[in-house]
Amino acid sequence: ASGYSLMRDPRHNKGLAFTEKERDAHYLRGLLPPVVLSQELQEKKMMNIIRQYTVPLHRYMAMVELQETNERLFYKLLVDNVEELLPIVYTPTVDDNNQAAQSIRGKILEILNNWPERTVKVIVVTDGERILGLGDLGCQGMGIPVGKLSLYTALGGVCPSQCLPITIDVGTNNEKLLDDEFYIGLRQKRATGKEYADLLQEFMCAVKQNYGEKVLIQFEDFANHNAFELLARYSSTHLVFNDDIQGTASVVLAGLLSALRLLGGTLADHTFLFLGAGEAGTGIAELIALEISEQNGKPIEENRKQIWLVDSKGLIVASRKESLQDFKKPWAHDHEPIAELKNAVEALKPTILIGTSGVGKQFTKEVVEAMASLNEKPLIMALSNPTSQAECTAEEAYTWSEGRAIFASGSPFDPFEYNGKTFIPGQANNAYIFPGFGLGVIMAGSTRVRDDMLLAASKALVSQVTEEHYEKGMIYPPFKNIRKISANIAAKVAAKAYELGLASHLPQPEDLVKSAEKYMYSPGYLDEQFIQLEELQDDANPD
Ligand code: NAP
Ligand code: MN
Repeated sequence: ASGYSLMRDPRHNKGLAFTEKERDAHYLRGLLPPVVLSQELQEKKMMNIIRQYTVPLHRYMAMVELQETNERLFYKLLVDNVEELLPIVYTPTVDDNNQAAQSIRGKILEILNNWPERTVKVIVVTDGERILGLGDLGCQGMGIPVGKLSLYTALGGVCPSQCLPITIDVGTNNEKLLDDEFYIGLRQKRATGKEYADLLQEFMCAVKQNYGEKVLIQFEDFANHNAFELLARYSSTHLVFNDDIQGTASVVLAGLLSALRLLGGTLADHTFLFLGAGEAGTGIAELIALEISEQNGKPIEENRKQIWLVDSKGLIVASRKESLQDFKKPWAHDHEPIAELKNAVEALKPTILIGTSGVGKQFTKEVVEAMASLNEKPLIMALSNPTSQAECTAEEAYTWSEGRAIFASGSPFDPFEYNGKTFIPGQANNAYIFPGFGLGVIMAGSTRVRDDMLLAASKALVSQVTEEHYEKGMIYPPFKNIRKISANIAAKVAAKAYELGLASHLPQPEDLVKSAEKYMYSPGYLDEQFIQLEELQDDANPD
């Protein structure tokens, strides 16, 4: 290849880090200024540039541009500065670098073949209906799959060429977008019912036909009615994972198991109350019940009874008149209806209160005080994102409980000082789990995802919290160790896949943590023979 096109290939471009030898070998002379920079210096320079931007959108754009020009440098930045850069790539602002899809019915297989990579291991797919807390962004939800996959690489070490982001454009119900002359998606109301189901069916079959049975398909930011249905329909025929339901459940369960070290007792000793009974709420509730069953051997129906959920119409109870969505039915216990959260707290006396409603400020002073009067150490998780939607802030949880609450949230809060003591709020960030989880599944060549693998991931995460962390009141490990955490999660998830007979990469490696670490992509530049080298490595990857 000519040097000119080499520099325009983000996968191989090194910019000023091309060595003298490379500049000779690849016809780069004259195309670059004379200096040769190390990747470390390039990194330092880029970080300086990014830090000069004060507007988050500008930082995001700078990262996107870097990803599109020099992929290894992009990941080097992300890996080395994970705490600083994660919020920038993880909660991306609207992105428009995808194509408006025309009618694609019957053509999905053909379309997949237009993607240049043949070996794909992880697909993150959305239909853009429920992007973060922002709602229906239609075709412009593409930033989410792209951002999630960047984390698969930076945090979980999945090679970037093996990651494929997809938005299935079925229209949008967002009037503002439909009226926007610059909108890049299909200008129509969302397809629903049979039309939607048929399109998704074609997609799922095409993916399997094109990339095989071991490609992990992560459903992301679908509205809950579709999310539960897709997961139920495809979990027995495809390797599917829903991060909003299952990833959330796994990371929150880890926080709960970890908090038990501070609270004492087992999960079975606790009563749980959720505000919000959607993907996050019911997903977490189900994994808790499953873990309790694993511990006490009782049927899951029995253990669900100590878990209560409130939705927009009040406490979910059996006597509710209007019909309940299927995913809420297991939680309709016998009780008189209760409309207000505070009254539900007083009636049910929960020890653990979890917010997954997407609505801010719902854990009022009265609610937190009620929790604090019922419990010596109330556990309060305000999981709704973004920060403005958190059910309460860290400061509110600590002050209203007079410093007795154990608090975790979905969005980050700074450490808070109360009566001379510093409290470090936990952040139940999905990015703790899904990259390592996916790596484990891929490493083992698992053909299905099972709930037991989610439990394994939770426990692997808990095992990374040390005494020193507990002393500071932390229930999650610090993020800066995330590559190590991911390798441990991957190892436990892979081990479970082998145990369940779902793994196809045989024989099972002896030391799974080591093989996870070995498997992980690292963003340092390859040497002069980088192009040939990388091709060799691709061939050597087991499938
Ligand atoms: P979802 O499927 O749409 O569910 C939202 C639920 O909240 C529904 O059950 C809804 O009730 C209920 N609700 C809405 N307004 C309410 C109100 N005023 N009072 C009581 N309940 C109310 O959404 P989701 O995917 O579960 O996400 C919910 C929130 O969790 C989002 O803010 C998201 O950012 C957050 N989340 C956090 C994490 C994390 O911390 N790691 C992970 C995932 C999600 P109806 O069913 O009656 O409509
Ligand atoms: Mn999501």
